[in-house]
Amino acid sequence: MRFLDEYRDADLALRYADAIRAATTKPWTIMEICGGQTHSIVRFGIDELLPSEIQLVHGPGCPVCVTPVRLIDQAIHIAKTPGCVLCSFGDMLRVPGSETDLLQAKAQGADVRSVYSPLDAVRIAEAEPDRTVVFFAVGFETTAPANGLAVKTAAAKGLENFSVLVAHVLVPPAMEAILGSPDNRVQGFLAAGHVCAVMGVREYEPLAAKYRVPIVISGFEPADLLQGVLMCVKQLEEGRFEVENPYSRMVQSDGNLAAKALIEEVFEVTDREWRGIGSIPASGLCLRESYRAYNASLLFDAPILANEKEQQCRAAQVLQGRLEPRDCPAFGVLCTPESPLGAPMVSSEGACAAYYRYRSLNAPRPHLPAPGGSASPLAGEGKPASADEPTPSKAVGI
Ligand code: SF4
Repeated sequence: MRFLDEYRDADLALRYADAIRAATTKPWTIMEICGGQTHSIVRFGIDELLPSEIQLVHGPGCPVCVTPVRLIDQAIHIAKTPGCVLCSFGDMLRVPGSETDLLQAKAQGADVRSVYSPLDAVRIAEAEPDRTVVFFAVGFETTAPANGLAVKTAAAKGLENFSVLVAHVLVPPAMEAILGSPDNRVQGFLAAGHVCAVMGVREYEPLAAKYRVPIVISGFEPADLLQGVLMCVKQLEEGRFEVENPYSRMVQSDGNLAAKALIEEVFEVTDREWRGIGSIPASGLCLRESYRAYNASLLFDAPILANEKEQQCRAAQVLQGRLEPRDCPAFGVLCTPESPLGAPMVSSEGACAAYYRYRSLNAPRPHLPAPGGSASPLAGEGKPASADEPTPSKAVGI
């Protein structure tokens, strides 16, 4: 399979579903790590193709969702500081801080700019030397190379009005925190393919061996996810606990060596607080001492504010696969994309946003049409999420 349509082929998806059904003799709980995978699973009804013994639970792989409120508040504080520009990816703008979010701060006059790349923020700093430009660097290992490159570029240009507020988190320590929890129920993982494209697969091998869990590197298309589930189920049924990489079209065992070298040069590992979950040892990145001048967290205060919304949000359970978003009492009632209580409802990778978009009571969701074009009874009554989004059959060629 080489092209996108092939990974969204309904015949192939149904064959994988049949193979999973044939391989399954016991109940198994499998967690997909990445929020992008969660959105594909919910959007395409992948979980509804599986036998009832297989439960997919959603993991903490939404970096926007796990960015602590304290850092959101600090970003808002920076944006409100006279002479400052706060640059961020658009996803962060609606994430609630203690009292407000970046979009509301912008509406109140703060200079908040949505950018597509950290290098855009460097260009703003270069073009506006009288402004202090801060880039809010949120993400997993996937975005760390680009953010590291922005810091290196600013240093090479001698820019003194550019810095980054780093909120990077790392996937393997989060998986270990889940596996080490006394009430863990995850028996196998679909690891995030894009993270592995950067970091490779070797750091998962000690985890698989220590906790006796299969870890299958997965992409984001329906066939990728179903293939990953099948390989995970086969390992579980056979009592194997290995790291397998069927996503070899993107992931090499050692990852991207140049990207890893860049991360190593600019960042170092640190303890990191995860929103709603708490501090996880060695689970984040911060700037090395040699790039201290670009560390916005040292240059600006971090206000401490009371946060009542945070107490109502059940994101911690959602992000650890312990609660399905629709089981949160606030889902769709007190918490909606227009009025979110937590980040998982507004992030494009948030599990609550996926369920709200594709599975809320009145919102129809997409489906995998059966071969020949008619709706597949396996996938339920799906429809596109919105009028401006292509239907899956148009979008994915199935
Ligand atoms: S539905 Fe809203 S309040 Fe509930 S867990 Fe999700 S983001 Fe938090």
